[in-house]
Amino acid sequence: MTLQLPKFRDGMSIGIMGGTFDPIHLGHLVIAEEVRHQFKLDKVIFVPTGYPPHKKASNVTHPEHRYLMTVLATINNPHFVVSRVEIDNAKGFTYTIDTVRFFHNYFQGKAKIYFITGADAIMEILTWKDYAELFSICYFIAATRPGYSLNNLNKTIGSVCPQALERIQVLEIPAMQISSTLIRQRVADGKPIKYLTPDSVADYIMKNGLYRRREV
Ligand code: NAP
Repeated sequence: MTLQLPKFRDGMSIGIMGGTFDPIHLGHLVIAEEVRHQFKLDKVIFVPTGYPPHKKASNVTHPEHRYLMTVLATINNPHFVVSRVEIDNAKGFTYTIDTVRFFHNYFQGKAKIYFITGADAIMEILTWKDYAELFSICYFIAATRPGYSLNNLNKTIGSVCPQALERIQVLEIPAMQISSTLIRQRVADGKPIKYLTPDSVADYIMKNGLYRRREV
């Protein structure tokens, strides 16, 4: 179930912020807010992945932890909503096409939908299930750090599916220097993560002993 989903209205634009969020951090929040502002989105719906097809399940933190951290991180922004759609469908792998179809139908096929994620993930999009349909029902925002070369993206995607490039916009965000990998590594090394993720998320990580180095 997704709480506080907006009702459909004509001219509506929605962002779907897809990610593993293991954990969510200030970079993700800055991206979501910047895209919301630039593209005049009514809401940004954060969708933590269930079991991503491209990752080994044992390497990813349990979906309920990732979902709860995402709720904590977004709680004070009235434009942000968190959806359990992939978590609750997590019996098998979860695919972006199923999520986008779900919201496309929810908004009666009329809302403009932007799927927001990292540029590195978008680079792989031609391997995603039913990618051609994805390009027909949504737009993509590929978030990246300043200085990222667009040549690879243009070459990889443009040579196979040139029309897809019209649906992808790249957004450079300085706060992308923060990454989930960096946070997990810092926790494992006993270093502070204050100011990299909201305090509530940092507290949740400590309280539940997430990302600690395992004794061998
Ligand atoms: P990932 O491989 O963990 O991340 C790739 C890069 O993108 C990392 O630098 C990551 O940084 C960044 N990133 C991830 N989500 C982001 C976001 N919302 N905004 C900005 N940067 C982001 O990617 P992932 O999180 O597993 O997958 C991203 C999305 O693509 C998910 O929604 C996933 O379901 C979808 N996907 C779908 C398929 C499919 O349908 N077959 C296949 C692959 C991915 P951080 O680690 O700091 O987040």
